Amino acid sequence: MPHVDAPAFPESILLTALSKTFGYATFRPHQREIVESILLGKDVLAIMPTGGGKSLCYQLPARMAAGTAVVISPLISLMKDQVDSARDNNMAAAYLNSSLTTSQAAGVYRQLREGALDLLYISPERFALDSFLNSLKEAKISFFAVDEAHCLSEWGHDFRPDYLSLANIRLHFPNAPIAAFTATATSEVQSDIFAKLTLRNPLQVRASFNRPNLYYEVRPKREVDKQILEFLKDHPDEPGIVYRTTRDAVEKTAAFLDGKGIKALPYHAGLAQGKREAHQDAFNNDETQIIVATIAFGMGIDKSNVRFVIHADLPKNIEGYYQETGRAGRDGDPSMCLLFYGGGDIPKLRHFLDQIEDERERALAISKLNRMAEFAARNLCRRRQLLAYFEETYPDENCGSCDICTGKATTQDATREAQMAISALVRTGERFGAAHVVDVLIGADTARIRELGHHNLKTYGVGKHKDKTFWRALMGEMLGRGLLVLDSGPYPILKLTAECLPILQGQEKFSILEVAAPGVGKDRRGSGSSGSGGYGSSSKSAAPELSNSDAKLFMRLKKLRKDFSQRQNVPPYVVFTDKTLHEMCRNKPVTLAALREISGVGDAKRDRYGIEFVQEIRAHLEEA
Ligand code: ADP
Ligand code: ZN
Repeated sequence: MPHVDAPAFPESILLTALSKTFGYATFRPHQREIVESILLGKDVLAIMPTGGGKSLCYQLPARMAAGTAVVISPLISLMKDQVDSARDNNMAAAYLNSSLTTSQAAGVYRQLREGALDLLYISPERFALDSFLNSLKEAKISFFAVDEAHCLSEWGHDFRPDYLSLANIRLHFPNAPIAAFTATATSEVQSDIFAKLTLRNPLQVRASFNRPNLYYEVRPKREVDKQILEFLKDHPDEPGIVYRTTRDAVEKTAAFLDGKGIKALPYHAGLAQGKREAHQDAFNNDETQIIVATIAFGMGIDKSNVRFVIHADLPKNIEGYYQETGRAGRDGDPSMCLLFYGGGDIPKLRHFLDQIEDERERALAISKLNRMAEFAARNLCRRRQLLAYFEETYPDENCGSCDICTGKATTQDATREAQMAISALVRTGERFGAAHVVDVLIGADTARIRELGHHNLKTYGVGKHKDKTFWRALMGEMLGRGLLVLDSGPYPILKLTAECLPILQGQEKFSILEVAAPGVGKDRRGSGSSGSGGYGSSSKSAAPELSNSDAKLFMRLKKLRKDFSQRQNVPPYVVFTDKTLHEMCRNKPVTLAALREISGVGDAKRDRYGIEFVQEIRAHLEEA
């Protein structure tokens, strides 16, 4: 028999701890190896998507190891939630940040010294305080977890100078393992994290960025407020986020929805802090169905039952879009990501980006915007495109969960227009980029065209019947399908490939997605045709299907959850997630032992809430 190293933590021990503490029967991908590494004293660098289950990766070892685990997290608003959740699972957890009074903080310091804490959440600036470091040195520390670790890289999009003080961890605590977590890391950011934290031969994991429970869809943007309202008719009572680019647009959409009887609150940096927090709390506590927000919103959102994220305007880049859509469906239930795309958004965003002073930065921002627009316009599986952006190959031909793969996206025949574009390229000698070729097609009167005499070409103005947005989308699709290639020289020059021949000769058709032109006021198709089913294939409704009677039980359990949440002053999802309640509705446990079998019910929650939930289920069964 070959010699096999016995794992220091037999799987059964980890699974028992997982079940008792969190009520989960299995680990999500990579969780087990991360937990095990930390327990064995090994550093970790983990890249996992939002909703991948990062917090469990350090909460479970914090529970199992002797001493206090110190978690560094950049968001004060999230700390309370995390601590409430951990405490609800009977972990000894606390946080230290500027929101505590002096005596509250003193209490936490005392608990730390007495070794009474499994978990201590802190903000990064603490590491610059000698007094804090001294207290920490007197305590027994099990390990350090650095959340949102990309914040310490100047290459990243969320650089926080405070994070640089985390380099002190290794200096002052040479023996404690460090586990770094992030949802976004390019290779530069990754090596930065590595170097700044001086990680030692860490376990490195990179989870797939695929979020299988998210459905992606792009709809042509016309009258977007009305389109949102139409969507909401099919999603009554489901919590959702609507993102808009400007404060004005946020206010306008929130007021519009509110006027239609839908509970919607605005959220943006222009609101007083108190008001902003109140709106965020109302959303967290299921008191408003919709929050309409600029991207400022959501950093501190742990709400697990966000059933849809709508982008009413084009996001600036795919990173942002993916992070924002990632706030949907953290509980793993099916959720919708809907983007309204119209060509009119591009000039508006360009106006912002053109003001970036640094030339390189501006060029990068513009190319990222172009990628975003390409994503929206391309007739190619959305999931495949998103994952490709993060350098991951999606293995299946059809993802079954986007508008393209489900055949829901509307396409238009563009064979004739593709022929026109090819001809314009030929006549201009394949020496120009897309912008100029489009100008020739639509017959624009630019200095460049006059200078080159291109207004005398046969193809000049043949594409007048379509606008710039259309032609841009067409070129994007032609590039994507390999009909055109970009020359590798210093300027993005378009060249034709042999793939063009069958289209030029009329042997093959060419179609592109329908795109809404800028300034299209009227919804030409009527609102109904923008898809009343919501999810393309009928099986994909936002919430998992419950029978009428189960839905009634769900309402009862939700009310009970709300009572507990108010009594304890925590958001409802800290008590139980919607997913856990749904499982209760389907399985109807009437004993504590059966309740404990439900995913998300650990020992502590069984003891704290079990009797009342079981009674509620019994009462429901008796009345039925
Ligand atoms: P992240 O911080 O990576 O965005 P979270 O830690 O908030 O993700 O986890 C997302 C959701 O998944 C939470 O509701 C959490 O309770 C749940 N979860 C995490 N791990 C598991 C698991 N092994 N089984 C079932 N649910 C899990
Ligand atoms: Zn797809």
